[in-house]
Amino acid sequence: MSFKGFTTQLVHCDRLAGVEEGAVHAPIHNSVPYGYAATQDLVDVFQGKQVGHAYARQSTPTLDYLQRKIAMLDESVASLVFGTGMAAIGTVFLTLLKAGDHIVASRFLFGNTSSIFGTLKGYGIEVTLVDATSSDAVEQACQANTKMVFIETIANPATQIVDLAGIGKLCEQRGLVYVVDNTLTSSYLFQPKSVGASLIITSLSKYVGGHGNALGGSVSDTGLFNWSAYPNIFEGYRSGDPKMWGINQIKKKGLRDFGGALSSQAAHLLSVGAETMALRMERQCANALALAKMLDEHPKVAKVYYPGLASHPQHQRASDLFKHYGALVSFDLVDGINSTEFLDKTNIVINATHLGDNRTLALPVAQTIYFEMGLEARQASGISETMIRCSIGIEDTEDLLNDFEQALASS
Ligand SMILES: *Cc1c(COP(=O)(O)O)cnc(C)c1O
Repeated sequence: MSFKGFTTQLVHCDRLAGVEEGAVHAPIHNSVPYGYAATQDLVDVFQGKQVGHAYARQSTPTLDYLQRKIAMLDESVASLVFGTGMAAIGTVFLTLLKAGDHIVASRFLFGNTSSIFGTLKGYGIEVTLVDATSSDAVEQACQANTKMVFIETIANPATQIVDLAGIGKLCEQRGLVYVVDNTLTSSYLFQPKSVGASLIITSLSKYVGGHGNALGGSVSDTGLFNWSAYPNIFEGYRSGDPKMWGINQIKKKGLRDFGGALSSQAAHLLSVGAETMALRMERQCANALALAKMLDEHPKVAKVYYPGLASHPQHQRASDLFKHYGALVSFDLVDGINSTEFLDKTNIVINATHLGDNRTLALPVAQTIYFEMGLEARQASGISETMIRCSIGIEDTEDLLNDFEQALASS
């Protein structure tokens, strides 16, 4: 039995894979060690001859359920879950790259990912940041030692959309690992596999979990990359189906050596949260589009950053690739209106970082999440000093628009 629709698959896949004791929701397994009546079974699990769990840092039945769900959503051969999105990102770099390697990455990135690139430089891994809205810029930055290209789908906070398909073709021609951070779109709005992604990274803390009550991250392998030609796979992991070599190395080296494991409690919350992803995102994206249009026409707003507006530089690309335009809306107020004072006038909007929550959250970008980055790097990323970033929630559209209207009117 199989279903086609996104949500039908999502809410029935646990059951179809077999349930424990008839439990409709996959149970939470809190045990750290897994014991076997016959010693040989434990030996076989350790030697990979038998499927099973040994220690919760590497796997539990609850994590397996979530991993199967994510793999299905990402149309991938396998997925791994981690304690946070950053644990997933850091683990991919540290397990697949070595000193002397080079990465080309988009200049428009989540701040903490930009920060990890600074750390990698100290380990002898070189990073070149480019304006990846054109794949030419990525191509020009490629070197003989380039191993990986890393980009995001909709950049936070200025919403640039890189040349996802062009970069996919380039990576295929050059045999580069193409890593797509799909957090802002999620598998509901966009399938990175359709543009040739090798690995899909998602912060599950955002739209997948959706309720702001659990952290998590995932890495999925689309099966498109030829790992048998990749030099950084350790000898011990060069056996079995080459499609699985990359994800196996990320699991073995990553979870075992670095230990960024997800707890089963958090996995359960994320799994339940994920069931309503399509419903939540439909409302959030519709709210975001309505708000972006209202702001765009408002005399007190200087500029709106939202891919759903026809004036957005990559509007056509977003229309071609994504189901909707996402739920992140950023804007600049006209000169003379202080963004902090404006935010204090809103009633629905919560002053908070994070995105993908059911509630609308907003913050002044340059003074908070991109403060440490400094003025020069902010300017290179297209972040104005007065920018306000909003993560749009599921509130009723009219209430949301009215709240922004009244705050603008009194500013
Ligand atoms: C939030 C976020 C991350 C990091 O995820 P955490 O779960 O907070 O560690 C990575 N990439 C993007 C695009 C994000 O928005």
